Amino acid sequence: MKDFPRVLLLFSLVGLGGCSDDPVMPAASGGGQMIVLGVDGMDPELLNELLAQGELPNVQRLIDAGGFRVLGTSNPPQSPVAWSNLITGLNPGGHGLFDFLAFDRTNLRPYLSASAVRSASRGPLEIGDWRIPLGSDETVLLRKGKAFWELLENSGVDVTIVRMPANYPPVPSRGDSLSGMGTPDLRGTSGTFTYFSTRTAFQPGEVSGGELKRFEVRGDRLIAKIAGPENGLRSSSPALTATLEVVPDPDHGIALIRGASRELLVQAGEWTDWVEVEFELLPVMANIPGMVRLYLRSVHPETELYVSPVNINPLRPAQVISSPETYATRLAEAVGPFYTEEMPEDTKALSAHILSPVEFLAQSDLVMGETRRMLDYELRRFVDKRGAAFLFFYFSSVDQRHHMMGRHVDTEHPAHPPNTASTTMDSMRSTYREIDFLIGRVLERVGGDVAVVVMSDHGFSNFYREAHLNAWLQEAGYLVLREDAANDPEEWLPGIDWSRTRAFSIGLNSLYINVAGRERFGIVPAAQRLDLAREIAGRLHGWIDETTGLPVVTRASLREEIYRGPFLGEAPDIVVGYGNGYRGSWATSKGQTAQVLLEDNRDEWSADHCVDPDVAPGVLVSNLKLTTPNPQLTDLTVGILDHFGVAPDPAMRGTSPF
Ligand SMILES: [Zn+2]
Repeated sequence: MKDFPRVLLLFSLVGLGGCSDDPVMPAASGGGQMIVLGVDGMDPELLNELLAQGELPNVQRLIDAGGFRVLGTSNPPQSPVAWSNLITGLNPGGHGLFDFLAFDRTNLRPYLSASAVRSASRGPLEIGDWRIPLGSDETVLLRKGKAFWELLENSGVDVTIVRMPANYPPVPSRGDSLSGMGTPDLRGTSGTFTYFSTRTAFQPGEVSGGELKRFEVRGDRLIAKIAGPENGLRSSSPALTATLEVVPDPDHGIALIRGASRELLVQAGEWTDWVEVEFELLPVMANIPGMVRLYLRSVHPETELYVSPVNINPLRPAQVISSPETYATRLAEAVGPFYTEEMPEDTKALSAHILSPVEFLAQSDLVMGETRRMLDYELRRFVDKRGAAFLFFYFSSVDQRHHMMGRHVDTEHPAHPPNTASTTMDSMRSTYREIDFLIGRVLERVGGDVAVVVMSDHGFSNFYREAHLNAWLQEAGYLVLREDAANDPEEWLPGIDWSRTRAFSIGLNSLYINVAGRERFGIVPAAQRLDLAREIAGRLHGWIDETTGLPVVTRASLREEIYRGPFLGEAPDIVVGYGNGYRGSWATSKGQTAQVLLEDNRDEWSADHCVDPDVAPGVLVSNLKLTTPNPQLTDLTVGILDHFGVAPDPAMRGTSPF
């Protein structure tokens, strides 16, 4: 997510290993095979439009053989929540992910909901400035519930899971699985780029998701120092740094760039392949390997260099990103190194105007190229499989491009630039055509007896106006600021007078009642919680944007109405579903208020899906006959298990759509 690079996922050198201990039963269905292509953010409306124009012949082939349905998404329709519904076949009350951002009620601190670092059981031994860890920090997956592929594996199905979101660290697997969304970069963040310049007017500093730095000049060489993970061996924990050396040749518009193990001659305007970098942990003895992709924006008159977030190198993984651990390396040996950070398209660099829309699309094409190579490799393996086999393969491009290209492709958007280039204007349609081409590749490679499913976790809606939900709560008298409150954009829940605040919002769709004995400074008696939640939800339905006359919130749900399961008590009290055109503001997501209730969204992040689930449903397309009218993500989970004759977990309530 765009605005939370500073929420550290933290860094751990040691992860998980081993395998599930459950006994393997023989495959119940004896040889069914299925491929699920997970296209994050594929939207039924745009899909329909392109199908009607005959632009997606391969999706059409699938539909002709099986069918096409709108797929009900999770509430809220945020990717980690939606994919967890599919993974576990449970609603959020069963898997415990309610918003990408969770919130510790005892200390009012936010954290990313999908994974966390638990510190070592035995404290470190401190000698001088050195700090020798006695145990290992362990990253744990916070999503609860069993993944459907664990059930498949226990029934003897040969399973491969490529980049499933909300699966970091990956659950131990008998087959092969690679983690996706939720996987940090080597700094432990959700992706932090660095931009170097020689310009004197250049302002070094931090932007959301990135750092702007000046090159160090040493004679004719420019030194780029990239920050890495913290040094857990020193008690002062300074960030480790890796160095790139740049020798510009202004006469020819090229530069020689030296990384840890190779030199590259790069032309201005060119993207490089992966370049290894090393972070020295102990002098001479221990290095932490990482890798970056570079974009040499210019050499003359000034040198400007974009350095991608430092990715975990799958050829030498510093953290566990696959199960078994060797799978990521095997895959990289076959197709070359690939982005391992969670959502590799650098949306933050575009939002910070470090990359232009055209440069962002070029970087996104690099991601797509890697995706294509990985898919080809997995298809080669899949066709060689005999007996029951399942492949899940994930695509990030539709979602990430749609977020960023929203204002470019939509002439109605308040921030639509007047002179949009035609390639940018056509970027979403061409992305759908590209996905269609890859679906064609899958259909060519596998036989007609293999079930092929194309699905998305949610679709998209317009993000024209930012809704400052905390400002609305303040105006309605539920949230009160301290008189000395200063609005610090870096602060979470800043300036709130907790002794007079009854409700507040943090995250993208979550609204909490400030309950006595539950929240740190809670004041609302527990017995009044539900009545107050009902009152606020009712008033939210009457929130009308005076500028447009449209409803800002079309569905405010009490947690009791939409969730069931053991983690219901951890859910926000109200899940706020915005109407088409609206989304919670970035300020609200950090628990901040604002001077106005609503304002035009002028960010590059210009389309979204964290809205009313009816506004942004996903798609389900398959060559299997679809037999139910309104399938949900949790129905698909049961359908996958059913295809292999595997009984669903008793907690799953879904019905197979096939
Ligand atoms: Zn998204």
